[in-house]
Amino acid sequence: MDNQVVPQDAEVVLGEDGKPLSKGALKKLQKQKEKEQKKKELEAKQAAEKAAREAASPDYSVGSYGKLPLMQSTERPGNARTKLASLNPDMVGETVLFSARVHTSRAAGSKVAFFVFRERMVTIQGVLALDADKVSKQMLKFAQGITLESIVQVEAEIVKPNELVKSCVIQDVELKILKIHVVSEAARLPISVEDASRPEPTEEEEANPDSRFNRVNLDTKLDNRVIDLRTTTNQAIFRIQAGVGQLFREFLENKGFIEIHSPKLIGAASEGGANVFKIPYFKTFAYLAQSPQFYKQMMICSDYERVYEIAPVFRAENSFTHRHMTEFMGLDLEMTIEEHYHEALDLFDGLFVHIFKGLETRFADEIAQVKKQYPFEDFKYREKTLVLEFPEAVRMLREAGAEMGDFDDLTTANERLLGRLVREKYDTDFFFLDKFPLAVRPFYTMPDPARPGYSNSYDFFIRGEEILSGAQRIHDYDLLVERIKEHEVDPATVEDYINAFKYGAPPHAGGGIGLERVIMLYLNLGNIRKTSLFPRDPKRLFP
Ligand code: ATP
Repeated sequence: MDNQVVPQDAEVVLGEDGKPLSKGALKKLQKQKEKEQKKKELEAKQAAEKAAREAASPDYSVGSYGKLPLMQSTERPGNARTKLASLNPDMVGETVLFSARVHTSRAAGSKVAFFVFRERMVTIQGVLALDADKVSKQMLKFAQGITLESIVQVEAEIVKPNELVKSCVIQDVELKILKIHVVSEAARLPISVEDASRPEPTEEEEANPDSRFNRVNLDTKLDNRVIDLRTTTNQAIFRIQAGVGQLFREFLENKGFIEIHSPKLIGAASEGGANVFKIPYFKTFAYLAQSPQFYKQMMICSDYERVYEIAPVFRAENSFTHRHMTEFMGLDLEMTIEEHYHEALDLFDGLFVHIFKGLETRFADEIAQVKKQYPFEDFKYREKTLVLEFPEAVRMLREAGAEMGDFDDLTTANERLLGRLVREKYDTDFFFLDKFPLAVRPFYTMPDPARPGYSNSYDFFIRGEEILSGAQRIHDYDLLVERIKEHEVDPATVEDYINAFKYGAPPHAGGGIGLERVIMLYLNLGNIRKTSLFPRDPKRLFP
């Protein structure tokens, strides 16, 4: 029997199949409607409550915080930003506008947030405190949500802190934040700038696994170099590096030198070829210059008299030492001499003293900053640089127990030992070692006519490690050809170079300095990679 009941005057409800619904289905439908109705009522109640809450706590900070639209240079209102470095207690009470990174941020209870803002080498504390008319809950919540390393634009009043802010570079003033806007938001960080800035662990700390927790090892730092380079220590290291280049250039310019730019793509593996990079060059091969040596000498043959170059040098050294990279910056110079190659040593003496003095006077803040993370003993040098002769160095080393022949080159260990012995005896970390054995120097080195087996060549050392090699060069064509034969160098690979000496060449001397090594040793950083922006070694070509 059909169980459908259809009251005469009732509205007929039809199912999906177009037939009137059964009694049970009607009941179910009714319940569903009631449920939806209740849900709507609840939502309306919640919305009303929220509106009431917001009415009781209006956002009176609208306009004082938020994310700025993408800066596309559409307008230029002329609001000058103040540099954090210029803030000082005399400015207490002033309001400033600045841009900086959010270095750290932390909440103190539910009403105050502390920030450390960072601008290059400077950090300063900023405080954002809830108040009744300027800083709303919404503003505080927004500011606390700003990710570390985001770039913010802040308007703040300069105030005197209750006590010195020890954790910041600027300690005697802090900032009361009035407005805070995000200019560029940082994603989640692979390493934190704060962790990358921690001092090296002491031996005790190294042994305690907990204390190693927040440190970042050098490889990880180098993998994330763009972030790592932001640390105040790196800001200082690379300012010091730029300073050395600047001091080198300014001294030489004052001494009548001219800056040159020699090619880095060359046609022959000129200096031996053992550690030269060979690269495809159209249908043939080219080599990356291992030094500007031949070209700076050719410039001397062309009568430029005093030349210098600051440029990359490439070495295919397949070894991992703390002081070798496959690409480094060479500071090179070459000069004509009148009577003796010691004219070049005198010039180098003046040059290095100028660099060291310039670092002390112009980069004292940077040096102090590096010391905070990597403490080191101040570097000692003399007004007139000590010149030791190779045979004397051999004697000192043998006295100290080292075994070496008269004409052996210095091993790294002996270089270091010699550095210590010189420091003990002469109280200096910087010296010249003159008169190297001829056999351990390149073929173009001028032999010492007075002492067979020795040469008019020198290396300079900082803290017992080599930073410069140089010599009087052979300017006589016939002698050069003779030395090339003795060294069994293929004349075809040096043809253009030796031909430069056929048409008359002035006597000359010079040297090449490794920029990164100077910085590493001056600051006693222990690893050359710390002094190269994006170091290159056999295993590192990225970033
Ligand atoms: P080392 O004996 O230390 O390997 P080198 O005798 O090969 O050095 P030179 O060819 O005389 O060095 O180069 C001059 C300077 O260039 C060195 O005193 C050093 O400061 C720097 N230098 C040389 N090789 C490297 C390298 N692979 N990485 C960084 N700097 C280097």
